Amino acid sequence: MTLDLETQIDQPEQAVPELVKPSRTPSLPKVISDKITDDGGTYDTNVKHLLQPGNENDLCTWLKDMRLIRSSMNCPTEGCNEKPLLWRTVRQVDKYGWTCNDCKKRQALRDGSIFQQTKCDLKHCIQMIVAWCMDIPYETVASYLDTKQHFVRKVYEILTQVTEQYVEAHSNEWLLGGTGPNGNILIVDEFPTGCMTENLIDVPKTKKRNNQNHTVLCIAEVSQVPPRMWMRILGTKSEKTLKTQEILKQYGMVEEALNEIGTHSAPGSILIANRRARYCNYENVKELKGFKVIGIEELQIHDPPEKNELSFNLETIWQTGLGICEDIQSLAQDNAVRDLHEYLWRRRFAKTTAQAFNSILQHITEFYQFSSDSVSSS
Ligand SMILES: [Zn+2]
Repeated sequence: MTLDLETQIDQPEQAVPELVKPSRTPSLPKVISDKITDDGGTYDTNVKHLLQPGNENDLCTWLKDMRLIRSSMNCPTEGCNEKPLLWRTVRQVDKYGWTCNDCKKRQALRDGSIFQQTKCDLKHCIQMIVAWCMDIPYETVASYLDTKQHFVRKVYEILTQVTEQYVEAHSNEWLLGGTGPNGNILIVDEFPTGCMTENLIDVPKTKKRNNQNHTVLCIAEVSQVPPRMWMRILGTKSEKTLKTQEILKQYGMVEEALNEIGTHSAPGSILIANRRARYCNYENVKELKGFKVIGIEELQIHDPPEKNELSFNLETIWQTGLGICEDIQSLAQDNAVRDLHEYLWRRRFAKTTAQAFNSILQHITEFYQFSSDSVSSS
């Protein structure tokens, strides 16, 4: 049996991820970093011990239960009539894989999963996911795990893609406003032309302001700090959308801003707009039906300089959103959208590392679905 497996391993027919070269001291267990933790969440309590040497099969069982890897697979070889492949130990870093008893075809356990594109072993991948949830810089994670930085960067990139796709596919879930005290009051503004940059005294003046590439529409609830927010870079409707919907070819920035506000504000909300913004200014926003719109300038009349409550509140509200707006200015459009989406995802799903870990695993399965248990023979 062992011999049989070894001969199969030498067959080059099946793409096996190009994995990290075994450490020079293979007898030592792979690093499980104590610095990577989700503070008593699912990772600490259910997953971490699966990363111990010898628990590889249990780790795979957990990955299958979480639908992060396939839980069954059929043989893609024509003559095998989709015969189920067998789960077996293999002489690879993953230690397990799928094998056909008849044609000896092998499939990697990562096939079609989020791990297919990564170049490091599963135990490291899991730790990198937690580290991403903790928002640790990839360089630091690489040193914690004693691995190459570009391995971590790749995993981070994939996770960011998942958040980007999630926000794009579920943008309608970001519905602001509603009932409760002040719950229905929303502030709409835009960066960099609106009011949100006006009162901020602690923004470092050293930050270059001459490279403003992206106009960001921001909607924030005033009822809590940090506020719930929705943000969108205006003028980034994808080419694909434009092609399929002729009417959108004429899609103006004002229409886009108003459409975003209408989509992400609960009906009946009170919108506070200003007159400085280029697109979502008071004059434009008050055209929106179903909302009461107040100009910020009118509110400021009731906010004497000695009190300055409104300015203070606005400053507090925008404190969180302003950083990301500044950060994405110098990026190319795709990267700016990507970073903004990750930011929105983290604000909603990463209030704690434990929440982030559970959420990202769930969202990974949404975008890495195994449509069928069989694989194509391509
Ligand atoms: Zn077969």
